[in-house]
Amino acid sequence: MTKIARFILPLLSIMATLLLSSLANAQTSVSVAINIEQPQHHYTKVTLTYDNYAKQQAVFHLPTWRTGRYEIINLANGIREFSAIDGEGNQLPWQKIAKDSWQVNDTLHKQVKISYQVYANQLGQRTRHIDDSHAFIDASTVVMYSDITRSHQHIVNLSVPATWRSVSGLDAGENNQQFIAQNYDVLVDSPIETGVNEHYQFTVDGRDYELVIWGQGNYDSSKIVADLKVLVQQSQSIWQGYPFERYVFMVHATSGARGATEHLNSTIIQTSRFNFSARKDYLRFISTAAHEFVHTWNVKQYRPKGLVPYNYQQENYSTLLWLSEGSTSYLQNQLLLRGELMSSKEFFESLAKRITGYLHKPGRQSQTIAESSFDKWLEEGGDYDKNHSVNIYSEGFLVSWLLDFSIIEKTKLEKSYRDVHNILYQDYKIPKSFDENDLLTVLKQVTSEDYSTWWQANIHGYAETDFDSLLAKAGLKMSYGDDKQVQQQAWAGIKTKKDNNGLYIVSVEKNSPAWQAGLTIKDVIVAVDGLRMKDKDLSVRLKNFKPKDRLSVTFFRRDELVTRMIILGEKPKNKLKIVPVKNASKTQQVFFKQWTGIAFPSK
Ligand SMILES: [Zn+2]
Repeated sequence: MTKIARFILPLLSIMATLLLSSLANAQTSVSVAINIEQPQHHYTKVTLTYDNYAKQQAVFHLPTWRTGRYEIINLANGIREFSAIDGEGNQLPWQKIAKDSWQVNDTLHKQVKISYQVYANQLGQRTRHIDDSHAFIDASTVVMYSDITRSHQHIVNLSVPATWRSVSGLDAGENNQQFIAQNYDVLVDSPIETGVNEHYQFTVDGRDYELVIWGQGNYDSSKIVADLKVLVQQSQSIWQGYPFERYVFMVHATSGARGATEHLNSTIIQTSRFNFSARKDYLRFISTAAHEFVHTWNVKQYRPKGLVPYNYQQENYSTLLWLSEGSTSYLQNQLLLRGELMSSKEFFESLAKRITGYLHKPGRQSQTIAESSFDKWLEEGGDYDKNHSVNIYSEGFLVSWLLDFSIIEKTKLEKSYRDVHNILYQDYKIPKSFDENDLLTVLKQVTSEDYSTWWQANIHGYAETDFDSLLAKAGLKMSYGDDKQVQQQAWAGIKTKKDNNGLYIVSVEKNSPAWQAGLTIKDVIVAVDGLRMKDKDLSVRLKNFKPKDRLSVTFFRRDELVTRMIILGEKPKNKLKIVPVKNASKTQQVFFKQWTGIAFPSK
């Protein structure tokens, strides 16, 4: 061997080793075996295989929350029988180091195989549910990851009863029980529905769609398909282009579960099996589908800083979650109206409901929409929340509406809030993200105006919404039935519920007559003006009283009898309605058209 060869050969061998190991790393894929053999017992055995693990020690985590639900949930509570072996079947030493983290030692350059059992019986949370008819798998609640394998391709092999059909937004593998995810993030954002189900396919605008329904119910699948076809096409009235080639609508027609979650190129919608037929129910279903479909852009393609990339082990903070949720609720109506899937009358009803909710939300003076976004992870609901919080959905909707009208007005009907969302899609696509300053830049781009003052007042302040002047721009107004004099009825400000213990208070509106009188939640009302309370709701008895009447309420608190005097307030007798004004001007009518995409309703 020459001197040069003695020098070069070891160098070549080092280079070859480096090349091979980098190739190995680049090509390594994680094999995910999900074995569902006794579905009636709600559990699955999961085995993850990592070839040639690149570190001496591996830490595997199960996420502590799942995408689309901004709340810490204890997902690791359903994990048992953890084990770790190498390629030869030798046990690898391991220990649990946190509630959701398992550390395995001696892993360098070895094949590492970890297995565990998962108990999957959470249908309503849209996390993991297995029974004898199906399985719904959101991988963030079933499949663990390690920091170095998060970017690796994951190949999922399902072992399920022979009659089950498996559907997912994931790419198909070699057989119909295999799916391929580019990396862990794609895997956890692409749930799998497998089981006995109905399956439909359609194509719109060169994109393939699937509808898969688990569960029997009073749905008309051909109507759902026809409406979804219209809905998906309407997305192009907001964004230019589609972020997917294929999209899957998954529906659980079931009992005891409702709600929906957005994913990368799919959604899971849960509703009561008999909630498809009445118009009110169906409208809620198709509105939910619209909401989740809007998320395919707003959240899945562009997302506030703080949520990019997702940190699966802790809270992901942002002051802009109202834009992710409230604006999605706002834009869902754009798709529904433009596609004629919702009538203007139905739209006005939903607006009236939102306004009524806002007018009875004392929390608008306690929390800003930016604070509500940041603290979404702490949200608990209940009486305190109702009185001291705003909501990223409902108040997020209202602030999106304000912004839309402001843009339409400032640009003389040329632009709208839809343009803001299209720019976010075109220019701030993940892995980029956006913050509040970016939004101010986009707003300036659309309107040529500075929105800093508006932003401070409406996003970081307690600005009161003036609905009269807002509605007037589009030729609409609020109405309580009689325009000359609104009829009033007695109002206490309490909500009650009846159970075996009696009629108890579930909420007291801050500063209402009942609040002033010192009534609080869980007080059990037994008598009003000395007469036993037998009605199913306090409002029934209140019909016998007028505003300003004095009312003595006797109730149990801590099982001790207490009597308090309420001086009744007033609230409009009729429900709030939004109606077109008589003789709307041409300007108002054109404004309405630019806002909703539909003609101004003639009556
Ligand atoms: Zn949403």
